[in-house]
Amino acid sequence: MKVVFHPAFHAVYTSDPAAAAGRMEAALAGLGPEVEWVEPEAAGQEDLLRAHSAAHIESIRRLGLYEIAALAAGGAIRAAEIGMSEPCFAAIRPPGHHASRDSCWGFCFFNNMAVAVLALAARGLARRVHILDFDLHYGDGTENILGSRPGVSIHNPAAAGRGSYLEEIERTLARAEADVIGVSAGFDNHLEDWGGLLLTEDYRAIGGMVREAAGRLGAGCFALLEGGYNHAVLGENVRAFLAGLSGEEERVRRE
Ligand SMILES: [Zn+2]
Repeated sequence: MKVVFHPAFHAVYTSDPAAAAGRMEAALAGLGPEVEWVEPEAAGQEDLLRAHSAAHIESIRRLGLYEIAALAAGGAIRAAEIGMSEPCFAAIRPPGHHASRDSCWGFCFFNNMAVAVLALAARGLARRVHILDFDLHYGDGTENILGSRPGVSIHNPAAAGRGSYLEEIERTLARAEADVIGVSAGFDNHLEDWGGLLLTEDYRAIGGMVREAAGRLGAGCFALLEGGYNHAVLGENVRAFLAGLSGEEERVRRE
């Protein structure tokens, strides 16, 4: 499976938990030789301007975070492009789902998902998009930028129980109509992270559900790292999700 990553994401670019030292090392620790690494280029001004105002882009530049945030957004575009032909994950930071057209909060600066979705549309690669955001936190920025866009559906699962949470995702994916499924993959709802809800095996299940839905629709699929702050479990959760998304589990069962 292809994973989009750039060594620059190791940098501690600010003092928030998404930028913490060792977080990307932890996220990638569980991945082995099955991964084909893809190095992205930064998103260009034209890509960013589809999702954000010029004033917002300038404000990120003034914070000194333009380069790392544009590289994350470029990683999202690359994952989305690859995702049109095979499942792809972007191990990127800063995260993006709390970035709106003209503002941001919650460790986010540019909305990686929105930039990626709008780049696919601009290139004529995908018009109908289903976004699953399983981060602990509601993706308000993604809703702000893409919520009223024709052909886009956004699902932030809200069920409080573990079983009902997974059922809600499965039920919503079953109804989705899309050329591509984009996943905002935040791992902060794990039992040992801030949300305290999901088990590692649940991320495997969710990855499998996305893969199955994309297969049924003949759609592409890609996923972008959002939250996930307990370095002790982040790697095994990413690993489990990618095993489900890539279909590695199915192959193991068949062999
Ligand atoms: Zn979060």
